[in-house]
Amino acid sequence: MLPSAVLEEAQEELLDFRGSGMSVMEISHRSALYQELAHDAESRLRRLLLIPDDYRVLFLQGGATGQFAAIPLNLAAAESTVAYVDSGIWAMKAIDEAKRFVSTVHVVASSRREGYLSVPQVPAEGAFRDARYLHYTANETIGGLEFQVPPETGAVPLIADMSSNLLTRVLDIPRYGLIYAGAQKNLGPAGVTVVIVREALLGEVPSRAPAILDYVRQSLEGSMLNTPATYPWYLLGKVLLWLESRGGVPEMERESLRKSDLLYSAIDGSGFYANSIRPDSRSRINVPFTLPTPALERRFLDEAAAQGLRNLEGHRSVGGLRASLYNAMPFEGVTALVRFMADFEARHG
Ligand code: PMP
Repeated sequence: MLPSAVLEEAQEELLDFRGSGMSVMEISHRSALYQELAHDAESRLRRLLLIPDDYRVLFLQGGATGQFAAIPLNLAAAESTVAYVDSGIWAMKAIDEAKRFVSTVHVVASSRREGYLSVPQVPAEGAFRDARYLHYTANETIGGLEFQVPPETGAVPLIADMSSNLLTRVLDIPRYGLIYAGAQKNLGPAGVTVVIVREALLGEVPSRAPAILDYVRQSLEGSMLNTPATYPWYLLGKVLLWLESRGGVPEMERESLRKSDLLYSAIDGSGFYANSIRPDSRSRINVPFTLPTPALERRFLDEAAAQGLRNLEGHRSVGGLRASLYNAMPFEGVTALVRFMADFEARHG
């Protein structure tokens, strides 16, 4: 979801951006008008997340998947050791990609054997002290698991994939070496990927990354080494403004708890719906759940859609159902879902 206020504003200025007589899609990314917009988005993100000055903020293309490669290519040598935490499907994708570029990818913790029902316990730093970094997936979008606190990594830089939970929780940025997120969950539309990286990590090893994924080169060029994703970047700036006007990240954190508490209570309070993730590992953002049979799930989806409750299918790789409670989802959206769930259970339970 994107906030409807943002979409309406974009609609209003679609044909004429700030009196230019052109759409923002038609103006040059080198023009003063666009540069100002791009700069404003970065300043806003810095304010919202309290990003210190010794961190660079990049707006790249290639999605979070591009970062699965960019991270080892920028921050490790081919013969380096890197450490990964395996908490599910997205963590595994990051691990598989890293294996293509680094000889030793050490999976220091995994909850795979138990079927990813909880986030794995990360061992003390001694177990991966030789790693150039430790990578973890802060929120498993498909599995519905979330780390409630980041792993302790001592002197080893911590890298977080926050594609599905950036800006939903207050962060202590200095704890992280690098944070990245594809924009399309909480930040804006698909097409732009945010990377927040501690300056001191750059240049420690010679980068092997292609120019467009090279952190130093992109940083020197203000993320405009080539033509950036101008329209997504513009919309991202608007989403950040909306977020600020709604009380910023602390308010988003409160809301995400309120929304997910309501939904988990509805699931746990019924003998009909189920979520098997250990309570201390449950995601506030993506809530997967099942019904007693696949036929009932199909029926649930059809009836829900008829009432305007959409996008509730689980990911195609796991099935079931999933409610995503991104920032733009209002509390009333969750109330409507919970009401529908009770009604459906009364009729089919
Ligand atoms: N990591 C996580 C946690 C995700 O949820 C996703 C996308 N859903 C990705 C990585 C991949 O993102 P992208 O499609 O931007 O490559």
